[in-house]
Amino acid sequence: MSCTIKKDLLSEGKTKKIYITNNPLEVLIHHKDCLTALDGVKKNFLQDKGILNNEITTLIFQFLNSCGIQTHFIRKINNREQLCHRVNIIPIEFVVRNIVAGSMSKRLGVKEGISLSSPIFEIFYKNDKLKDPLINDHHAVFLEIISYEELSTIYNITSKINHIIKKFFLEKNIILVDFKIEFGKDYKNNILLSDEISPDTCRFWDKKTMKKLDKDPFRTGLKEKEEVFDIYMEILKRLNVS
Ligand code: UDP
Repeated sequence: MSCTIKKDLLSEGKTKKIYITNNPLEVLIHHKDCLTALDGVKKNFLQDKGILNNEITTLIFQFLNSCGIQTHFIRKINNREQLCHRVNIIPIEFVVRNIVAGSMSKRLGVKEGISLSSPIFEIFYKNDKLKDPLINDHHAVFLEIISYEELSTIYNITSKINHIIKKFFLEKNIILVDFKIEFGKDYKNNILLSDEISPDTCRFWDKKTMKKLDKDPFRTGLKEKEEVFDIYMEILKRLNVS
Protein backbone atom coordinates (compact mmCIF):
# COMPACT_ATOMS: atom_id res chain seq x y z
CA MET A 1 0.00 0.00 0.00
CA SER A 2 1.63 3.29 -1.08
CA CYS A 3 1.88 6.13 1.41
CA THR A 4 -0.71 8.90 1.00
CA ILE A 5 0.51 12.47 1.25
CA LYS A 6 -2.13 15.11 1.94
CA LYS A 7 -1.65 18.18 -0.26
CA ASP A 8 -3.67 21.34 -1.07
CA LEU A 9 -7.30 21.93 -0.22
CA LEU A 10 -9.42 21.20 -3.29
CA SER A 11 -12.81 22.28 -1.97
CA GLU A 12 -14.67 22.91 1.26
CA GLY A 13 -18.35 22.32 1.96
CA LYS A 14 -20.52 22.71 5.04
CA THR A 15 -19.35 19.53 6.74
CA LYS A 16 -16.34 18.28 4.77
CA LYS A 17 -13.02 19.40 3.30
CA ILE A 18 -11.50 17.68 0.28
CA TYR A 19 -7.74 17.59 -0.23
CA ILE A 20 -5.72 16.52 -3.24
CA THR A 21 -3.04 13.91 -2.56
CA ASN A 22 0.21 12.74 -4.15
CA ASN A 23 -1.97 10.41 -6.26
CA PRO A 24 -3.96 12.43 -8.85
CA LEU A 25 -6.68 9.76 -8.88
CA GLU A 26 -7.33 9.92 -5.13
CA VAL A 27 -8.56 12.54 -2.67
CA LEU A 28 -8.63 12.78 1.07
CA ILE A 29 -11.97 13.65 2.66
CA HIS A 30 -11.86 15.35 6.06
CA HIS A 31 -15.02 15.41 8.23
CA LYS A 32 -15.50 18.70 10.12
CA ASP A 33 -17.18 19.28 13.47
CA CYS A 34 -20.11 21.09 11.93
CA LEU A 35 -23.79 20.29 12.28
CA THR A 36 -26.07 21.93 9.72
CA ALA A 37 -29.78 21.87 9.01
CA LEU A 38 -32.29 23.61 6.78
CA ASP A 39 -29.90 24.02 3.84
CA GLY A 40 -27.17 25.42 6.08
CA VAL A 41 -29.39 28.09 7.67
CA LYS A 42 -28.79 26.40 11.05
CA LYS A 43 -25.07 25.87 11.43
CA ASN A 44 -23.36 24.83 14.67
CA PHE A 45 -19.96 23.72 15.83
CA LEU A 46 -20.31 20.31 17.47
CA GLN A 47 -17.13 18.94 19.02
CA ASP A 48 -16.04 15.56 17.57
CA LYS A 49 -19.11 15.13 15.37
CA GLY A 50 -16.73 14.76 12.40
CA ILE A 51 -15.17 11.72 14.09
CA LEU A 52 -18.57 10.05 14.46
CA ASN A 53 -19.61 10.77 10.87
CA ASN A 54 -16.29 9.56 9.48
CA GLU A 55 -16.67 6.30 11.39
CA ILE A 56 -20.36 5.80 10.51
CA THR A 57 -19.98 6.55 6.80
CA THR A 58 -16.88 4.31 6.68
CA LEU A 59 -18.82 1.35 8.10
CA ILE A 60 -21.67 1.84 5.61
CA PHE A 61 -19.44 2.33 2.56
CA GLN A 62 -17.29 -0.68 3.52
CA PHE A 63 -20.46 -2.75 3.72
CA LEU A 64 -21.73 -1.44 0.36
CA ASN A 65 -18.33 -2.16 -1.26
CA SER A 66 -18.51 -5.70 0.11
CA CYS A 67 -21.97 -6.05 -1.48
CA GLY A 68 -20.60 -5.14 -4.92
CA ILE A 69 -21.76 -1.50 -5.06
CA GLN A 70 -19.10 0.66 -6.74
CA THR A 71 -18.25 3.52 -4.37
CA HIS A 72 -15.56 6.17 -4.09
CA PHE A 73 -14.44 4.82 -0.69
CA ILE A 74 -10.97 3.25 -0.50
CA ARG A 75 -10.06 3.24 3.19
CA LYS A 76 -10.20 5.19 6.43
CA ILE A 77 -6.92 7.01 7.04
CA ASN A 78 -7.46 8.33 10.57
CA ASN A 79 -10.36 9.24 12.84
CA ARG A 80 -11.44 12.20 10.70
CA GLU A 81 -10.20 11.35 7.22
CA GLN A 82 -10.76 8.79 4.50
CA LEU A 83 -9.09 8.11 1.18
CA CYS A 84 -11.43 8.06 -1.80
CA HIS A 85 -11.30 7.81 -5.58
CA ARG A 86 -11.35 11.27 -7.12
CA VAL A 87 -14.62 11.92 -8.93
CA ASN A 88 -16.51 14.75 -10.54
CA ILE A 89 -19.70 14.99 -8.55
CA ILE A 90 -22.91 14.97 -10.61
CA PRO A 91 -24.81 18.00 -9.23
CA ILE A 92 -27.92 16.04 -8.29
CA GLU A 93 -29.09 14.85 -4.86
CA PHE A 94 -30.87 11.50 -5.14
CA VAL A 95 -33.41 11.11 -2.34
CA VAL A 96 -35.07 7.79 -1.57
CA ARG A 97 -38.15 7.64 0.64
CA ASN A 98 -39.48 4.51 2.35
CA ILE A 99 -41.75 6.41 4.75
CA VAL A 100 -43.28 9.87 4.29
CA ALA A 101 -41.38 12.60 6.19
CA GLY A 102 -39.66 15.97 5.81
CA SER A 103 -40.13 18.01 2.67
CA MET A 104 -42.38 15.42 0.98
CA SER A 105 -44.80 15.56 3.88
CA LYS A 106 -44.89 19.38 3.72
CA ARG A 107 -44.99 19.64 -0.07
CA LEU A 108 -47.85 17.20 -0.53
CA GLY A 109 -49.69 17.93 2.72
CA VAL A 110 -49.54 14.29 3.82
CA LYS A 111 -48.91 12.97 7.30
CA GLU A 112 -45.40 11.99 8.35
CA GLY A 113 -45.09 8.25 9.04
CA ILE A 114 -47.08 6.74 6.16
CA SER A 115 -45.20 3.66 4.84
CA LEU A 116 -44.77 3.69 1.08
CA SER A 117 -45.63 0.45 -0.71
CA SER A 118 -42.66 1.03 -3.00
CA PRO A 119 -39.88 3.57 -2.49
CA ILE A 120 -40.28 7.05 -3.95
CA PHE A 121 -37.26 8.59 -5.69
CA GLU A 122 -36.79 12.33 -5.96
CA ILE A 123 -34.00 14.37 -7.49
CA PHE A 124 -32.83 17.82 -6.42
CA TYR A 125 -30.55 20.12 -8.41
CA LYS A 126 -27.48 20.88 -6.29
CA ASN A 127 -27.32 24.64 -6.63
CA ASP A 128 -26.87 26.84 -3.54
CA LYS A 129 -28.14 30.00 -5.24
CA LEU A 130 -31.38 28.26 -6.22
CA LYS A 131 -31.57 26.45 -2.84
CA ASP A 132 -31.37 22.95 -4.35
CA PRO A 133 -34.78 22.82 -6.11
CA LEU A 134 -36.73 19.60 -6.70
CA ILE A 135 -36.47 18.78 -10.42
CA ASN A 136 -37.44 15.89 -12.70
CA ASP A 137 -35.42 13.80 -15.16
CA HIS A 138 -36.27 16.06 -18.11
CA HIS A 139 -35.05 19.17 -16.25
CA ALA A 140 -31.80 17.39 -15.39
CA VAL A 141 -31.18 16.35 -18.99
CA PHE A 142 -32.12 19.85 -20.22
CA LEU A 143 -29.56 21.31 -17.78
CA GLU A 144 -26.98 18.97 -19.36
CA ILE A 145 -25.86 17.65 -15.98
CA ILE A 146 -26.74 14.02 -16.78
CA SER A 147 -28.13 11.84 -19.60
CA TYR A 148 -31.29 9.69 -19.54
CA GLU A 149 -29.07 6.60 -19.73
CA GLU A 150 -27.02 7.69 -16.71
CA LEU A 151 -30.20 8.49 -14.79
CA SER A 152 -31.51 5.01 -15.50
CA THR A 153 -28.20 3.44 -14.35
CA ILE A 154 -28.24 5.53 -11.16
CA TYR A 155 -31.87 4.72 -10.34
CA ASN A 156 -30.97 1.03 -10.60
CA ILE A 157 -27.95 1.41 -8.31
CA THR A 158 -29.98 3.57 -5.91
CA SER A 159 -32.69 0.94 -5.68
CA LYS A 160 -30.06 -1.71 -4.85
CA ILE A 161 -28.47 0.55 -2.24
CA ASN A 162 -31.85 1.15 -0.61
CA HIS A 163 -32.52 -2.57 -0.48
CA ILE A 164 -29.11 -3.33 1.03
CA ILE A 165 -28.95 -0.61 3.65
CA LYS A 166 -32.62 -0.83 4.67
CA LYS A 167 -32.00 -4.47 5.67
CA PHE A 168 -28.60 -3.62 7.21
CA PHE A 169 -30.15 -0.97 9.48
CA LEU A 170 -33.22 -3.03 10.33
CA GLU A 171 -30.91 -5.72 11.73
CA LYS A 172 -29.70 -3.00 14.14
CA ASN A 173 -33.31 -2.09 15.04
CA ILE A 174 -33.14 1.07 12.95
CA ILE A 175 -35.82 2.00 10.39
CA LEU A 176 -34.40 3.79 7.35
CA VAL A 177 -37.11 6.40 6.67
CA ASP A 178 -35.35 8.29 3.87
CA PHE A 179 -31.88 9.27 2.72
CA LYS A 180 -29.93 11.35 0.25
CA ILE A 181 -27.03 10.10 -1.85
CA GLU A 182 -24.74 11.58 -4.46
CA PHE A 183 -22.82 10.07 -7.34
CA GLY A 184 -19.65 11.05 -9.15
CA LYS A 185 -17.73 9.99 -12.23
CA ASP A 186 -14.11 8.82 -12.03
CA TYR A 187 -11.43 9.40 -14.68
CA LYS A 188 -12.82 6.48 -16.71
CA ASN A 189 -16.37 7.87 -16.48
CA ASN A 190 -17.44 5.05 -14.12
CA ILE A 191 -20.35 6.10 -11.93
CA LEU A 192 -19.44 5.73 -8.25
CA LEU A 193 -21.52 6.27 -5.14
CA SER A 194 -19.76 9.23 -3.50
CA ASP A 195 -20.17 11.78 -0.68
CA GLU A 196 -21.36 10.13 2.57
CA ILE A 197 -24.16 8.16 4.21
CA SER A 198 -24.59 9.18 7.84
CA PRO A 199 -27.20 10.55 10.26
CA ASP A 200 -26.58 13.88 8.48
CA THR A 201 -28.01 12.48 5.26
CA CYS A 202 -30.57 9.95 6.49
CA ARG A 203 -33.68 9.86 8.63
CA PHE A 204 -33.55 7.00 11.12
CA TRP A 205 -36.26 5.92 13.55
CA ASP A 206 -35.86 3.40 16.35
CA LYS A 207 -37.73 0.21 15.41
CA LYS A 208 -39.20 -0.32 18.88
CA THR A 209 -39.93 3.19 20.12
CA MET A 210 -40.08 5.10 16.76
CA LYS A 211 -37.82 7.69 18.44
CA LYS A 212 -35.95 9.86 15.90
CA LEU A 213 -32.28 8.87 15.69
CA ASP A 214 -31.02 11.66 13.44
CA LYS A 215 -30.81 15.44 13.33
CA ASP A 216 -34.55 16.00 12.79
CA PRO A 217 -35.14 17.12 16.42
CA PHE A 218 -32.32 19.66 15.91
CA ARG A 219 -33.86 20.86 12.62
CA THR A 220 -37.13 21.59 14.39
CA GLY A 221 -35.50 23.11 17.48
CA LEU A 222 -36.77 20.35 19.78
CA LYS A 223 -33.28 19.24 20.74
CA GLU A 224 -29.98 20.97 21.37
CA LYS A 225 -26.91 20.00 19.39
CA GLU A 226 -25.39 18.12 22.35
CA GLU A 227 -28.35 15.73 22.37
CA VAL A 228 -27.86 15.18 18.65
CA PHE A 229 -24.29 14.08 19.43
CA ASP A 230 -25.65 11.39 21.78
CA ILE A 231 -28.03 10.22 19.04
CA TYR A 232 -25.16 9.89 16.52
CA MET A 233 -23.19 7.95 19.19
CA GLU A 234 -26.16 5.60 19.57
CA ILE A 235 -26.19 4.94 15.80
CA LEU A 236 -22.46 4.19 15.83
CA LYS A 237 -22.86 1.87 18.82
CA ARG A 238 -25.58 -0.11 17.03
CA LEU A 239 -23.57 -0.34 13.79
CA ASN A 240 -20.61 -1.74 15.71
CA VAL A 241 -22.71 -4.59 17.14
CA SER A 242 -22.68 -7.41 14.62
N1 UDP B 1 -31.02 15.48 2.82
C1 UDP B 1 -29.67 15.71 2.84
N2 UDP B 1 -29.19 16.91 2.39
C2 UDP B 1 -29.99 17.89 1.91
C3 UDP B 1 -31.39 17.65 1.89
C4 UDP B 1 -31.86 16.44 2.34
O1 UDP B 1 -28.90 14.84 3.26
O2 UDP B 1 -29.48 18.94 1.51
C5 UDP B 1 -31.55 14.19 3.31
C6 UDP B 1 -32.30 14.35 4.62
O3 UDP B 1 -31.46 14.11 5.72
C7 UDP B 1 -33.38 13.29 4.52
C8 UDP B 1 -33.62 13.14 3.02
O4 UDP B 1 -32.50 13.70 2.38
O5 UDP B 1 -32.90 12.06 5.03
C9 UDP B 1 -34.89 13.83 2.56
O6 UDP B 1 -34.85 15.16 2.97
P1 UDP B 1 -36.09 16.12 2.72
O7 UDP B 1 -36.28 16.30 1.25
O8 UDP B 1 -37.24 15.61 3.49
O9 UDP B 1 -35.60 17.51 3.19
P2 UDP B 1 -35.39 18.09 4.65
O10 UDP B 1 -36.76 18.48 5.13
O11 UDP B 1 -34.78 17.00 5.43
O12 UDP B 1 -34.44 19.20 4.40
